[in-house]
Amino acid sequence: MSGRFEAVIGLEVHAQLRTRTKLFCGCPTSYGAPPNTQVCPVCLGLPGALPVPNRVAVELAARAGIALSCEVRPSSRLARKNYFYPDLPKGYQISQFEGPINGRGEVTVSWDGQSKNIRITRAHLEEDAAKSVHGVGTAPGTHVDFNRAGVPLLEIVSEPDLRSAEEAEAYLKKIREILMFAGVNDGNLEEGSFRCDANVSIRPIGQSELGTRTELKNINSFRFVRQAIEYEIARQETLVSSGQTVIQQTRSWDAARNQTVALRSKEDAHDYRYFPDPDLPPLEIEPESIAAWRAETPESADAMRARFVDQLNLTDYDATVLTSHPEVARYFESIVSRLAAQSAPETAKKVANFVQSEVLGHVALDGLDATFPSSSERVAELLALVQDGTINNKIAKQVFAEMRASQKTARQIVEEQNLAQVTDVAAIEGEVRKVLDAHPQQVQQYRSGKTAVLGFFVGQVMKATRGAANPKAVNELLRAMLQEQS
Ligand code: ADP
Ligand code: MG
Ligand code: ZN
Repeated sequence: MSGRFEAVIGLEVHAQLRTRTKLFCGCPTSYGAPPNTQVCPVCLGLPGALPVPNRVAVELAARAGIALSCEVRPSSRLARKNYFYPDLPKGYQISQFEGPINGRGEVTVSWDGQSKNIRITRAHLEEDAAKSVHGVGTAPGTHVDFNRAGVPLLEIVSEPDLRSAEEAEAYLKKIREILMFAGVNDGNLEEGSFRCDANVSIRPIGQSELGTRTELKNINSFRFVRQAIEYEIARQETLVSSGQTVIQQTRSWDAARNQTVALRSKEDAHDYRYFPDPDLPPLEIEPESIAAWRAETPESADAMRARFVDQLNLTDYDATVLTSHPEVARYFESIVSRLAAQSAPETAKKVANFVQSEVLGHVALDGLDATFPSSSERVAELLALVQDGTINNKIAKQVFAEMRASQKTARQIVEEQNLAQVTDVAAIEGEVRKVLDAHPQQVQQYRSGKTAVLGFFVGQVMKATRGAANPKAVNELLRAMLQEQS
């Protein structure tokens, strides 16, 4: 962006609500089923089929609104948004127009040491469209998979408050985090359950009127959102700087060619001929329910990070990694609480290190508590052995690898392979003596004051005992024996 213009960006996020069934029928919402196997007359738009609103979707939409500090409305309307497209079986999408379930809200976005409040215009319920698939196997042409048609979405519309691609990316990450920690969205960009449209315009600095925007459709990666917006800002700037005008249109991001390409000119809102759906009465929510959901709002990622730093003495970095996903946070806390009975002050730090360095690299998110050897219960058992001095950290890593390979518990492995640390002085003494005898030169160095060589001896003893000796016991013994021989 050159000095003359500023970018203006507003995002429309489409987040799939975590329901088992679709918004107006009982078809499952699970991802990955064979095409057109999760359909019925309602979501296929067959004549005479009648929609019935999914109560859970309404509740999750309201809970999302609460988490986004929106005004949640006890009464809202479902409307028909009419347009013609192969992926739209009824010829209209059921959405909300006037009177969305969630009105104005606001989120605080931080990036690069800066922070800013971004206003949310509204967050409304709507159904997803079907998916066009171009060329299936050997079959040419476009095919339509209706499994996704009718899946409940929350569309979160921001005010045009964002000023750069970087800010937009940070906003998107924040919205994802808020929704995931509120338990309403799984945050899975690859599976399309979190995606966005980015509206981009530029205007001369100092001008308050908005410029003509383009809308970048269906972006499903943080990297693409940043790249697409950056490209679009530059494209518009080049146009305007050379005396041309920006045409209001819908564009898409072509990741292969690294550019945005025009899809169609943008219809204005009135072209959708919105009207209240006559098949659906207003959505009514008891104010008591809204109050109860508000009271039950789960801890936000921001609050959790602050707690990890203040109460568990974790670094900002550790707290950030451990709150990267609610499953990770829950897993971490579950291990800490299992160890709490015998906890030392550094327990949380030890668990944080182990989870980050050993578990997250090896176990997929959805496997955290699903796979037996990596369950919080099994890992807590393992770390309890470190805590009580039975094994050291290094052996713990080895045991964990073995647990995953063999499906055995930590205790079984330690016993079978004789991995318990040797704290018994008599047992280590022979090894210490051998090491000292084998390195007379270093012994000399130690005695002449170069005590740093102690680390070398510790290393040698640990090697000789194949890591089984308790390093603390080895240290003490070495000091004593070096002393006594001098
Ligand atoms: P629709 O895309 O359905 O026509 P809206 O008119 O409500 O819906 O706008 C959608 C999004 O576009 C909002 O996030 C809004 O902030 C953003 N927006 C509107 N005008 C501009 C503009 N001139 N430049 C950038 N963003 C804009
Ligand atoms: Mg739009
Ligand atoms: Zn259905």
